[in-house]
Amino acid sequence: MILRPGLLLVLILTALLGCAAPAPAVYDIQITGGLVYDGESVEPQNADIFIAGDRIVFVGDPKTGNATAKTIIDATGLIVAPGFIDPHTHTLSDVLFNQNGNHLAGYLTQGVTTVVAGNDGGGPVRVGETLVAAEKRGLGPNFALFVGHGTLRGEVLGRENRPPTESELEEMKSRLDQALIDGALGLSTGLYYAPASYAGIDEITSLAEVAARHDALYETHIRDESSYSIGLISAIEEALEIGRRSGAAVHIAHIKALGVDVWGQSERVIALIEAAQSEGLTVTADQYPWSASGTRISNALIPNWAKADSDEAMHARLRAPENQERLLTEIAENLRKRGGPDAILLVARDDGLPSRTLTVEAAEMQLDPVQAAIEIVIGGDARIASFNMQDQDIERFMVQPWVMTSSDGTNGHPRKFASFPRKYRTYVEEKSVLPLADFINRSSSLTADSLNLCQRGRLVPGHYADVVAFDPDRFGPVADFSNPSERSIGVEYLFVNGEAAIIDGQLSDTLNGRSLRRGECQTPEETQS
Ligand SMILES: [Zn+2]
Repeated sequence: MILRPGLLLVLILTALLGCAAPAPAVYDIQITGGLVYDGESVEPQNADIFIAGDRIVFVGDPKTGNATAKTIIDATGLIVAPGFIDPHTHTLSDVLFNQNGNHLAGYLTQGVTTVVAGNDGGGPVRVGETLVAAEKRGLGPNFALFVGHGTLRGEVLGRENRPPTESELEEMKSRLDQALIDGALGLSTGLYYAPASYAGIDEITSLAEVAARHDALYETHIRDESSYSIGLISAIEEALEIGRRSGAAVHIAHIKALGVDVWGQSERVIALIEAAQSEGLTVTADQYPWSASGTRISNALIPNWAKADSDEAMHARLRAPENQERLLTEIAENLRKRGGPDAILLVARDDGLPSRTLTVEAAEMQLDPVQAAIEIVIGGDARIASFNMQDQDIERFMVQPWVMTSSDGTNGHPRKFASFPRKYRTYVEEKSVLPLADFINRSSSLTADSLNLCQRGRLVPGHYADVVAFDPDRFGPVADFSNPSERSIGVEYLFVNGEAAIIDGQLSDTLNGRSLRRGECQTPEETQS
C-alpha cells in the first residue's frame, strides 16, 4: 500500500485521537470512475481523486485508502485532467469592469481553471492592487498577470517615438521591479504595436534584466510575425538575444507565421529556438489553434510611423494630402501580406451589424478597400479576424514539446470561447496531430511550470484541486466566426480550488477563483487551518 502525504496525515491524526483502528477518512469530494490524466504522465490511469478543502489529497485506487467523501462525483466515461491554464488572454477588463464578466463562463466551459492576462505589453503596472481588486470582485477561474512594457513606457514616455532617457529608463525599471515583487508572472512586451515598437533592444534588455533578477519570464508578442518591418526570423532572433543578454527565460506569445510572405518559415523558427535551448536558454511558446488572428484593423494595416503621439495626430496624418501616396502604397502592401480584403473579416461591431469582409464593407462604402480601411480607422477603428496562417505551420508548431495551448481570446473571434475544445476536437480527435496526453500536459503542467504557478497543473496530492472532467465524445467548440460567443460543450465537471464551477454540465454560481502570484506556494495546512 502506498501512503500519500495527505492520507498519511489523516491516518496519523486518527491515531493520535486514540482510535484503536483507523476510521475511514471522510473527505469533501470523491471523483470516481474516470480515466485520469495527471498532467504529466503519458499513460492515463483508472483512479479516484479525493479532494479536501482546496486540495487534492489522494489519487489512486480508493480501496487502498479506506476513505470516503461527503460528495461523490460519478465520472464514468469521462476524462479527468488538471484544469487547463490559459497563458494568454485579454480578460483584464472583463475581470475588473464587466457586469458578471468576472465569472468568465466562456473560459470555464472550455475547462480552463486559470487565466493569465496582461500580455502583449498591455498589462497593468500596479499589479499588486489589480490582483487584490480582481479577487475582491470575485473570479470564476484563477487569475494571474503580466506587467506590460507598453503600459510602463506609456506612463513614463507617453506615445513618443524616441528612446527613454537614463532617468526615464530607471523609472521604468523601478516600477517593473515593484510589479514583480507584487507577484507579476513576468514582463510582457508587444513590440509589434506602437508605441512599444519605438523601443529598441537595449531598452527591452535592461527591463528583461529586472525580470531575470526575479526569476520571472520575458514574454513577448515579437516585433514582427510577418514581413512588416524586420521580418519573422529577425524578430525571433531579437527575442532570443534579449534572453541571452538579460538571462531571462523567453516566452514567445501566440507563435505563428503570419501572412503569405512567411508561410513555411515555421521550420526555421523552430530550428532557431531549439538551437537557443541547446545553448542553455529557457524558451517556450504558446499557440491558439486557429488560422485567423484577431486584432484591430489599425494594427493590421496602418503603418506604425503614422501612429505616434495620439489618436488625433494619427488621424491628421491619415488625412494629410502629402502622406496619401505613401499611406496608400503601404496599406495596400500590408493588405496583400494578409491575403487581401477577402481575408479580413470585420467582427464584434458596435453597431450590431453582422461580420463581413473588408471587400463587402468597402463596396458598401463605395470606396476601394485601402481607402475604406483609412475611413474605418478614422471613424473609431474596428476589430477584425484576419485569415493569414497556413495549417502546415500551425501543426508544425503545435507538436513541439515547448508549445502550450492558449486562446489569446478577444471579442468577435471564437478563440475566446473555444480554443481548448477546438484543439482537442480538431487536432487530437480528427487530425491526430497530437496524442490526448500531450494536449492535456501542454495545457496544464507545461504552462504551470513555465509561468511558475506553484502547486497547479497536476493531479497529485498537495496540489490545488483545479480539476476538469469532460466527455471525450462531446467536448468541442460551438462558437465559429458567425457566432463567436457561443460557449463550448462537453465539460461535465469543473473544480476551481476544490469548489464546483460546473456540475452535471451546468455552470454553478460559485466564484472560487483566486488571484495567483508568481512562485507563491503554500502548504495545505496553511490554507486549511
Ligand atoms: Zn499578441
